[in-house]
Amino acid sequence: MRPTIWRLARDLNITGHVRNDGEGVFIEAWGTPTEINQFIEALLQQAPVLSNIYSIEHSPLSGTAASTFTILESKKNTINTHLPADAATCPECLKEIFNPKDRRYRYPFTNCTHCGPRFSIIEQIPYDRTHTSMRHFTQCSDCQNEYETPADRRYHAQANNCPTCGPKLWLEDGKGNPFTVTQKDSLSTCAELLRAGKIIAIKGIGGFHLACDASQAQAVSRLRQRKNRQQKPFALMASNINMIHRYAHCGEAEQQLLLHSAAPIVLLQRLSHATPLANNIAPNQHCLGFMLPYTPPHHLLMSELDSPLVMTSANISDSPQCVDNEQAKDELSNIADYFLLHDREIINRCDDSVTRIALESKQTIRRARGYVPQPLHLAHHLHASKNILALGAELKSTFCLLRNQDAFISQHLGDLKNADSWRDFKHNLRLYQTLFDFKAEIIAIDQHPNYLTSQLGRTLAEEHTIPLVEVQHHHAHIAACMAEHGIPSEQTVIGIALDGLGAGEQNQIWGAEFLKVTYLHSYKLAGFEPIAMPGGNRATLEPWRNTLANLITLPVWNSDQLKQLELIKFLHSKPLDTLIQAIERNLNSPKASSAGRLFDAVAAAIGICRNNIHYEGQAAMELEALASSCFADERSNAYEYELKNGQLHFQPLWAQLLEDLKKRTPNKAIAARFHHGVINAVVETASQLAEQNDLDTIALSGGVFQNQLLQREVKDRLEQNKYKILIPKALPLNDGGISLGQAIIACHKKAHPTTC
Ligand code: ZN
Ligand code: ZN
Ligand code: FE
Repeated sequence: MRPTIWRLARDLNITGHVRNDGEGVFIEAWGTPTEINQFIEALLQQAPVLSNIYSIEHSPLSGTAASTFTILESKKNTINTHLPADAATCPECLKEIFNPKDRRYRYPFTNCTHCGPRFSIIEQIPYDRTHTSMRHFTQCSDCQNEYETPADRRYHAQANNCPTCGPKLWLEDGKGNPFTVTQKDSLSTCAELLRAGKIIAIKGIGGFHLACDASQAQAVSRLRQRKNRQQKPFALMASNINMIHRYAHCGEAEQQLLLHSAAPIVLLQRLSHATPLANNIAPNQHCLGFMLPYTPPHHLLMSELDSPLVMTSANISDSPQCVDNEQAKDELSNIADYFLLHDREIINRCDDSVTRIALESKQTIRRARGYVPQPLHLAHHLHASKNILALGAELKSTFCLLRNQDAFISQHLGDLKNADSWRDFKHNLRLYQTLFDFKAEIIAIDQHPNYLTSQLGRTLAEEHTIPLVEVQHHHAHIAACMAEHGIPSEQTVIGIALDGLGAGEQNQIWGAEFLKVTYLHSYKLAGFEPIAMPGGNRATLEPWRNTLANLITLPVWNSDQLKQLELIKFLHSKPLDTLIQAIERNLNSPKASSAGRLFDAVAAAIGICRNNIHYEGQAAMELEALASSCFADERSNAYEYELKNGQLHFQPLWAQLLEDLKKRTPNKAIAARFHHGVINAVVETASQLAEQNDLDTIALSGGVFQNQLLQREVKDRLEQNKYKILIPKALPLNDGGISLGQAIIACHKKAHPTTC
């Protein structure tokens, strides 16, 4: 902020000074009232891209006017100021790296106060060069000069450097031999190797990527094979928006998001008649995940390529992304042909963020690089009087530090059942507490007894003798959505939580609940009928098990007329008697009211991912892709459901689905009719409950709502019924948002328990 303020003050004849303090930026300004007003106006309009202005407070100043405007040293009081997120290379830096006359021509580490690495290189606060991995590089006199000149774009740029004094980049072959002559050659050679179909491990800002040419199916399938990732979609990097237009729909809003300083991956609808891209990038999906170059090496590489690159996190199995040169060479030696390395250490691992434009605005699927550790600034009335640490769920984990109005939510930390991810979670937990000088006074965890995060929370609460709050999973989903939208403490809403599985009340397993919610309380009004999951966890991985569990609840299950169906023949190839007995006797077949499992069951019924899924949500995503091709046409053919005593039963839906199978109705029509059936069930139930309870606001959350057909249709129709609809935007709908919900609930239960 300070250089911008300095410049504006000079332009407007304002005298005085500016300095950073614990709470933000402090300015003393002398000028005429008109000048001061112009100054404030200009501040709001011309604030640097990476700054966040939550408010400007001002009051009259006495004393003698200063003669000039100066920048003062920072005051070292309570550390409260926010840390910046990593930011994509800015336009000015970009001009320099492509300008042969500039001293930073083709320099891969060019950055300034508007761009470059931040969170990924910081070890401790305050954010000074000595506390980052740039401390190993001493600025040359030219750089030092820029650093000390207030009018310079690099004034106080902590990561400032140049070819003379900064980090170096080089290319190695798979055996650790240097491959290029000079740094400038490395990127051209790398581009050449990519064009030749090679797989290259590229060290980026928050971790390593594995890259290959996305137009070469052979290269892509070699990457899939070597990485043992058979079907999960790969993210792509394009040179620019024009290149993206060749492959996917990319409207104004999508373009803005792609070009944002966070440079996230944006999910875009595939073009049906697109320029060919390897067909194994995102099998059976109708979206492609694109991002734009966000570091100088990306820009330099892409400027020499005519097709997009696959850019996937470099890791083995489900472990976190590699960040260290030696570790990468060790772990990726069987995957990558070459390594593009550099000697600027990545301190904090941070995956690419994943977003999309849904319902005309940004929706977050994975919140990480470019967004963290910026807090979510909550509404004034949600101010927390105590420091709350919430530990989140277990899959798609994040944690949340809540202090005053700021919720610092960690980057996506993955599936904690993976030992490395769990280690990484604990590392980040310590890091954030240090960075924000945060001491928890209350700890919040999921009610699930076996989540690693719940166990850790219990231990921490005991060790520090502080209160522990256990939060019901779906209450947390809805509360996170409410908090993001600034819903007041005393307000009650209807919450619809549709997800895979979460610990419900009275030892039930939930995953499709209609709740009456305040931050303090959650009361279940209705939900899907609980259906067995034969084989327990195996039912999550093998969708056909859910199909079976649903079908045996039908009266027609044993009738002869079904026997000819291919689906039934398939099921009979499994040890059916044993499984049915297990379900009947309640052996390793827990019942769950899960929307996720219902989608899996229907997908498997029409042959999608029948035997197993390769990644979480695959069956449901493929079912959605199929349904979207004839969604509007099938509106009047919706399958039916039944609402009895607060329970939604889908036997009518299954009976109609079986009829359609008999009639050989196309799978896409079945998929669409199923979607319409579930949408009707959700919309009609929610409307009824809202009316009965005299409530006008409905919050939607849970990973299943990432389904765009479901989300859009439910929202539109409930809005037509005059309800106000809330959907998470800044935080994911999936379990990545749970930690905020836990924190805000714990805050109401312990920090100001009398609010409601
Ligand atoms: Zn820059
Ligand atoms: Zn230098
Ligand atoms: Fe969930």
